[in-house]
Amino acid sequence: VRQVEIVPIEGVVRNVAAGSITKRLGIEEGTPLPRTLIEYYYKDDALGDPLISEEHIACFNWASQEELHDIQDMAIRVNDFLVGMFAGVGIRLVDFKLEFGRYEGEIVLADEISPDTCRLWDKETMKKLDKDRFRRDLGGEAEAYQEVARRLGLMPEEGGGAVVDLVSHRLRKGK
Ligand code: UDP
Repeated sequence: VRQVEIVPIEGVVRNVAAGSITKRLGIEEGTPLPRTLIEYYYKDDALGDPLISEEHIACFNWASQEELHDIQDMAIRVNDFLVGMFAGVGIRLVDFKLEFGRYEGEIVLADEISPDTCRLWDKETMKKLDKDRFRRDLGGEAEAYQEVARRLGLMPEEGGGAVVDLVSHRLRKGK
């Protein structure tokens, strides 16, 4: 783990419409987007992390042009990798959020990538295997996270002692 200077923007990469974009633009959830879309949000809890444009990032110098270029490049590469990885285990990567930091003058990925920060749908059944189970009161959140981990080969197949304690994980992260 490395300590980084956090860039005050979140990048959301979307392949399929879900969540806030469906409400903002009136697109039906589940609609594949014509191309991968990267959105930026200003990291400010009091303001509710508002959607911003590249113009805002440049105007307020939240990241330089070169850094923004690196951020876009990284977001697309992470998306390509994750789409392939999840497709291999029958999961559709709908969208996810990335955070970025500065480390020795370079842009690096920061924070976690997990079912808490991604939308993951089973390819066959469309079942949600992510934090929307909690946000939308669907239940079965821990089981869904374990299913993702199991498919990725990160969980013992049977009877293992792995415990997914989401409550204490989020408390540690302060959210
Ligand atoms: N997301 C996140 N943290 C946030 C906001 C969003 O991890 O503070 C993730 C969310 O899990 C989803 C994606 O970013 O995978 C897009 O979220 P959206 O903008 O649709 O917001 P929502 O309606 O979920 O709040």
